[in-house]
Amino acid sequence: MAAAYCDVAVPLPLHETFTYKIPARLNAQVCAGCRVAVPFGSRKLVGVVTALLDVPRVTGPLKEVEALLDVEPVLPASLLALGRWVSEYYAAPPGEVVRAMLPLHDEFALRERACLRPLGSQRLADLELRGERSQNEEAEYQILHLLKNGKSRTVGGLARHVQEGKRVLARLRRNGWLEIAREIKRRQRRSEAAPPRMFEGDWVTDGALVLTQEQERALEEIKRLQSAGRFATVLLHGVTGSGKTEVYSHAIQRCLEQGRTALLLVPEIALTPAVAEQFVARFGHRVAVLHSGLSARERSAEWWRLRRGEARVAVGTRSAVFAPVENLGLVIVDEEQDGSYKQGETPRYHGRDTAVVRAKFEGAVAILGSATPALETSYHARSGRYQLLAMTSRVANRKLAAVTLVDMRAEFEETRKAELFSRALTKGIEEALAAGGQVLLLRNRRGYANFLLCRKCGAAVQCADCSISLAFHRGRGRLLCHYCGYARGVPNSCEKCGSEHLYYVGEGSEKVEEVVRRTFPAARVARLDRDTAAGRGQAERILRRFVRGELDILVGTQMIAKGHDFQGVSLVGVLSADSILGLPDFRAAERTFQLLTQVAGRAGRGELSGRVLVQTYYPDHYAIRFGAAQDYERFYEQEMRFRRLLRYPPFTALANVVVRQRKLDAAIRTARQLQEFFQQRSVPNLRVLGPAPAPIARLKKDYRFQFLLKSPDRSALQQLLRAMADYARQEQIAPGAVLVDVDPLSLL
Ligand code: ADP
Ligand code: ZN
Ligand code: ZN
Repeated sequence: MAAAYCDVAVPLPLHETFTYKIPARLNAQVCAGCRVAVPFGSRKLVGVVTALLDVPRVTGPLKEVEALLDVEPVLPASLLALGRWVSEYYAAPPGEVVRAMLPLHDEFALRERACLRPLGSQRLADLELRGERSQNEEAEYQILHLLKNGKSRTVGGLARHVQEGKRVLARLRRNGWLEIAREIKRRQRRSEAAPPRMFEGDWVTDGALVLTQEQERALEEIKRLQSAGRFATVLLHGVTGSGKTEVYSHAIQRCLEQGRTALLLVPEIALTPAVAEQFVARFGHRVAVLHSGLSARERSAEWWRLRRGEARVAVGTRSAVFAPVENLGLVIVDEEQDGSYKQGETPRYHGRDTAVVRAKFEGAVAILGSATPALETSYHARSGRYQLLAMTSRVANRKLAAVTLVDMRAEFEETRKAELFSRALTKGIEEALAAGGQVLLLRNRRGYANFLLCRKCGAAVQCADCSISLAFHRGRGRLLCHYCGYARGVPNSCEKCGSEHLYYVGEGSEKVEEVVRRTFPAARVARLDRDTAAGRGQAERILRRFVRGELDILVGTQMIAKGHDFQGVSLVGVLSADSILGLPDFRAAERTFQLLTQVAGRAGRGELSGRVLVQTYYPDHYAIRFGAAQDYERFYEQEMRFRRLLRYPPFTALANVVVRQRKLDAAIRTARQLQEFFQQRSVPNLRVLGPAPAPIARLKKDYRFQFLLKSPDRSALQQLLRAMADYARQEQIAPGAVLVDVDPLSLL
């Protein structure tokens, strides 16, 4: 007997699935993992069937599934199970998880059609008879007239017919003159053309290499695990330039030979096209590439190639962890420490951790690769949960670049000038250019000036919607909010006190570029940051010019520090190593260490040996000292001591609960409600800090308060978060007013 009921996850911020009746005509066809059209309140939604049921979970009348949209499930059972895990672990609404897993949003469209009800026909007749019509009546008349004689039209089309069309339609509907029917339509299937290739074949693409001994040894161990055919996680800790990519490639080859499929996650494809390109070059049409630079159509074409089994290797960013392959044998997460693996909106999953769980569910081998593993990952490797494979030297006997710290306090003592460039860095650049080398300059902040300050009253110009100072972007001639994108012109006088003495504070990458051009007029210079890389393919074009040797100096934000394999760089300059240390973030030291190691890793990867100069006001800070020494072990020891003392991950599980509301008093009220809940539900060893105003107290028009939950026992934390979600529903707190971030990377 086919099931008579099913649970459906709908794309709304609700912490539950909903039970629907399956009508007889669909009885044998509906299966778990298929999309269905269902009525929901007055709406109609596309949801995914998460389970079939013989008896409903709830009593009372149930609505029916209206249409089945897939013949075969879009989510195979293994992915449904993964989705359930994401939903539970990250306390995320199941429907939003499912939506994040399926990059197929534009396959179906909701269409609303209107026609006249009898009352509407009467009204039309009235209006026709009337000699003179008010403006409102005229608009009504126009619309009703279009629906005369039983015609129906789309609501969108009707609304465009008159001014303020949406409002007029709402009125017509309220008065009972219109009937609105909703239907879900498959958009016209476009030709399933092969996606455009993003690569021109410029990058490092030599054929098969002779593996180094370390690569050989790592690979042997990985292949042994692959043959065992069981779940295992490997941390491939290889210094920058040790040739990790080559190891991945051989492991994928073996996986395909076993008849299984593979996933390779990379932080940002637009920034490291070389990595993706190598895999496309090696595995050809068996690779599907999934990343944010694709149009919705290209993305869904690649997705379907994987789902149909035509492509057997998915290379992509975070969400590629949900690539719909079956018989998964291998999951690789490159640069596993990278913050971009954590999704910044609900569901706030971590791509790396989700990858490991997926490997576990499917009996696959997971490889986490990094030169600077996240502390959590190293901790697991040391406690035996992951297997550690180390590669300690660069290929071809290349040396790691020598790093020198430039103490900017001493520089000021001696020169009495607060220059952007120390004498040592200026000289270093001159020497590197003279020797025919290329130079990378890191300034981890974009824009021209960090903010605009009033000399008289000390006020900085703020974003209209966030409690954030605006940065000045000279190229655009505007002040910009880096959190919400708000932009405005530069005021002539202070808006608080009227003083005209406004001045710019702090230098961003745009300013650095300007100074570089002035100081080294003969050099060919470009800049890479979110501003210059805004257009599609822009970042890649700049990087390509640099790789081809058409540029001498590349200035940029941390975008230039990512896993690029630049062969011509002989000098890396870090303008200020301290920018992250000042942030209210318990990972500030770790992020500083990682950034220094990563950027230093870009030097000396080719024939020329490399040098790194790091300007800092805190040359004694352990993150900077160990980063300069590229001494991971000692950094790890020191940082773990702090984490243990202060009860931070990996010793405690963390969750950040953020209350956000448009109105301040509403935000305070909700925060109080949650505070009461947490007080009543005190759990031993589980600490709840807050409510406190979030470090960004107002963001995108919302006022924000936060609670930080810390617990050595993760399941206790999860239970409490579930109870909180139930409580919020009972108390009718608006869905979306409470955000939960489990294992947060940022507490802003
Ligand atoms: P990592 O990711 O560990 O920083 P890459 O994988 O980018 O290092 O490799 C660094 C460089 O070394 C690349 O140019 C790569 O082609 C090259 N390479 C890798 N393995 C070998 C090898 N066995 N022999 C020679 N060159 C190699
Ligand atoms: Zn002022
Ligand atoms: Zn803003």
